[in-house]
Amino acid sequence: MSARILQGEVGIEEAVTTLAAGGLVALPTETVYGLAALAQDARACARIFEAKARPLSDPLIVHVPGPEWLERLADPDPLTRLLAETFWPGPLTLISPKKPCVPDLCTAGEPTVALRMSAHPLFLETLSRLNEPVAAPSANRFGRISPTSAQHVFDELGAKIPMILDGGPCVHGIESTIVQTREGVIHILRQGPVTRSQLEPFGKVSSQPTGASAPGTLKSHYAPQTPLRLIPRDEEAPRHAKGVRVGLLAWRNARPGFDAVEVLSAQGDPVMAATVLYGAMRRLDARGLDAIWAETPPASELGDAILDRLRKAAASQ
Ligand code: AMP
Ligand code: MG
Repeated sequence: MSARILQGEVGIEEAVTTLAAGGLVALPTETVYGLAALAQDARACARIFEAKARPLSDPLIVHVPGPEWLERLADPDPLTRLLAETFWPGPLTLISPKKPCVPDLCTAGEPTVALRMSAHPLFLETLSRLNEPVAAPSANRFGRISPTSAQHVFDELGAKIPMILDGGPCVHGIESTIVQTREGVIHILRQGPVTRSQLEPFGKVSSQPTGASAPGTLKSHYAPQTPLRLIPRDEEAPRHAKGVRVGLLAWRNARPGFDAVEVLSAQGDPVMAATVLYGAMRRLDARGLDAIWAETPPASELGDAILDRLRKAAASQ
C-alpha cells in the first residue's frame, strides 16, 4: 500500500467514505496530523494501534463532530462542560468518565475517555459529514516525532494507510493541552497550546499528576532517531569533538561550528517555534548527524510546553 495524498473536496469525500467503512485516514488538525478511525468501532481502533505500532496500553484521543458528543460519549462534570463550551473547537482535550459506547480498546481499558473537538476546517467538515466521532492519535509511528505536514505523515506511515488528507502545515505544531478536572481543580496532564493562564479563570489549576494514565506524559516520547541533548540557550555552545557531526536546534541565527542549524525563532517567539519545531527536528534527523543539540526555549508558558517535548526527545536515547 502507498498512501494517496488528497486535497479539497475530493479528499474530504474519500476520507468520509474510507472512515465510514472502518478504514484509516490521516487528517490535519490545528495541532498535528491525526491518524483517524471510527471511535465506536473497536476493529477500526485496532487498525490505529497496528499502523502506529502503539502499545494497547496507550489510550487514544477521541475527536468529536460537535460539542453535543461530549455527553453522548462521556459523563462530564459541570466544569468540564464549561471548558468545552469555552475552548471548543480548539486544542484542548478533556478527560471524563466514559460511557459504554466507547470501546475499551480505544481507552486502553481506562474508565475515562479523552475528548476533543478540532478547529481545523477540513477536520470539522470531514467529521460533520461522517457524523461520527473518530479516534485520532498523532499520525506517527509510536514514540516518534508528531507530523505537522502531509509529507511527514507519508514518511511515517505512507506504506500502512490508504490516504492522507492534505491541509497544509499545522497552525500550532505541538499536541493539544490535556486536562482532567477533579473537585473544581483543573489538572494539566499535558502542556500544549491552551496555557495555564487561559485556564485559570475557570478554577484552580494544577500540574500535579492525577494518577490517570497519560502516556503523552511518558518520560520518553516525540523522539528523533539521532541522539538529542539539551543545552542552555544563553551560554556558548559546548565544543564537540572533531569529526563528530552535530546539528543545532537554535533560537538565534549565525551559530558557527555546527554541521546543520535549524533556527526555531530568531525573535525568540515560542508560537513561531512551536509551529516549526517538529519539522526542524525531522530535517535534522534526516541529515545523518551523530547528535542533535537543542537550545532550551525562552521561559514562557508555550516555551515550557516546547521544553517538555525536547526533554522527552532527549530522554529516549
Ligand atoms: P497522541 O498519540 O499524541 O494523540 O496522544 C494521545 C494522548 O492522550 C495519550 O498519550 C494520553 O496522554 C492521552 N489520553 C488519551 N486518553 C486518555 C485517558 N482516558 N486518560 C488520560 N489520558 C489520555
Ligand atoms: Mg503522539
